[in-house]
Amino acid sequence: MKKVILIGFAALFMMACNTKNETGSDSKMENKIEMGNPADVQVTEGGVFKMQGLPYAYNALEPFIDARTMEIHYSRHHLGYANNLNKAVEGTEMVNMSIEEVLKGLNPENAALRNNGGGYYNHNLFWEVLGPDKGGVPQGILADAINRDFGSFNEFKKLFTEAATKQFGSGWAWLVANKEGKLSIISTPNQDNPLMEKLGYTGTPIFAIDVWEHAYYLHYQNKRKDYVEAVFSVVNWDKVTEKYNTAIFKD
Ligand code: MN
Repeated sequence: MKKVILIGFAALFMMACNTKNETGSDSKMENKIEMGNPADVQVTEGGVFKMQGLPYAYNALEPFIDARTMEIHYSRHHLGYANNLNKAVEGTEMVNMSIEEVLKGLNPENAALRNNGGGYYNHNLFWEVLGPDKGGVPQGILADAINRDFGSFNEFKKLFTEAATKQFGSGWAWLVANKEGKLSIISTPNQDNPLMEKLGYTGTPIFAIDVWEHAYYLHYQNKRKDYVEAVFSVVNWDKVTEKYNTAIFKD
């Protein structure tokens, strides 16, 4: 009799455990894809150029930019550029320079520095000029400059979208300002950027869109134009205006 009761209890106990396990794992699988935290993404110890963090969560730009793309882009692609940049500058005087100074003085034949220094800087700028609940149109001094140099915001957006979609293969579209405040749109291949003076570029970048496939392929596949349109819905124009002000009052 005792034995039967014990077996009975053991069976009930096992059933209870099974039910609990199944319920626990099911809800985790169905409801939640585990996302890391941008704050945990750090360069390899000793690297002088750090990850600056994201000013929002990975899912903050949905539905325009999906959380999975953001996570992979920031924690793998951007981190990879940062770590490789740190390797490229190790043991040189560049460890004491800003990334802007490094890029301005860049020897284009130094491929490791060109690709990874560019990749590091370009993504820092890209994350900074986006944000949740943004989009719309710029105001104030930047709106005036856009109207003056492109005719209207819509004309600017059209030209910028053309530059972004016509860049063959991987690259970036940029809005740059010269010291007099004049705006221009340019595109660059790979991780090149407008600060690389020896490549013939001029102007200070104030806004950019990453058109590498890693920036959009999961959600938009080959539809780069749809992705560019979506990015315009999350542009932080206040931040771009801040960068414009800084660019035109520089030495
Ligand atoms: Mn990218």
